[in-house]
Amino acid sequence: MKINSNTKLICLLGHPVKHSKSPDMHNMNLESINENAVYMAFDVENENLGKTIDGLKSINFIGANVTVPHKENVIKFLDRLTEEAKLIGAVNTIYYENDKLVGDNTDGKGFMISLKEETKFESKDKKILILGAGGAAKAVSVKLVMENVKEIYLYELDNEKGNNLKNHLEKISATKVFLVNKEELQEYAKKSDLIVNCTPVGMKDSDPLLLSLESFKKEQVVFDLIYNPEKTKLLKEAEKKGAKILNGAGMLVYQGALAFEKWTGQKANIEKMFYILLNRGL
Ligand code: NAP
Repeated sequence: MKINSNTKLICLLGHPVKHSKSPDMHNMNLESINENAVYMAFDVENENLGKTIDGLKSINFIGANVTVPHKENVIKFLDRLTEEAKLIGAVNTIYYENDKLVGDNTDGKGFMISLKEETKFESKDKKILILGAGGAAKAVSVKLVMENVKEIYLYELDNEKGNNLKNHLEKISATKVFLVNKEELQEYAKKSDLIVNCTPVGMKDSDPLLLSLESFKKEQVVFDLIYNPEKTKLLKEAEKKGAKILNGAGMLVYQGALAFEKWTGQKANIEKMFYILLNRGL
């Protein structure tokens, strides 16, 4: 595609962004629909986020993805939020609607599509263990309580953060939420139908294993939001016990595909997005 003065810009705003596979996936999508637009990743420090958004508004900018650490801070620079972004309290996608800058969150939907498509897991009345209470955990747990899961067990080292998420989930749903400490973790893991790792623990070889082999069972689904490495130590242990395992590649592809539709009004090429992520990136 020829870049010229009409070329529109879509960005990733985060810090850091250099390992992101989103530019590869979205530029492929833009080319395949012949859209005169490019997707670029920008490393933006906290104190420059407002200035960056202001600058983008004055050029050919049509939308963005937002990643760590800006998913919550970005809200104050937007005109409005979708219901999903309000419920989650964080934004991962920005697009224009009637000249207004709208903040949406496609992480939760991306998670749920991946879970259903790839494992056929039915969430209703199930018991779920969630590791972490950060941005991704919020998106995942809000989506799960919307599906009427029975109980959520939250493992979070920071008590205040864990409590805030527990209170929020119980306010918006009838799901019972329990905070779980390190000593209770294995016991709660064992009685869970689904375990979701929403921490970055497992990205590095030197990372500890959050759950021992004894925490898993055959009937479980174990979902690690990490997609690089493709199979974390956690997934390898769960697999040894015969659990169904899933990494974060599908979630990344589906959340990206939903964002792409918001920016262009057209469908993304899911198959090619998986190809790019699995064959070129991992
Ligand atoms: P975040 O907002 O920084 O949250 C990270 C969470 O992990 C926090 O609750 C943190 O607890 C917890 N944590 C960190 N180290 C821990 C440890 N050693 N033991 C227990 N808990 C620990 O990050 P995020 O945006 O939620 O992302 C989390 C992970 O999900 C990352 O690996 C990210 O790449 C992945 N992710 C994947 C997708 C996808 O599409 N596949 C989408 C979003 C995120 P404290 O606050 O107490 O430190």
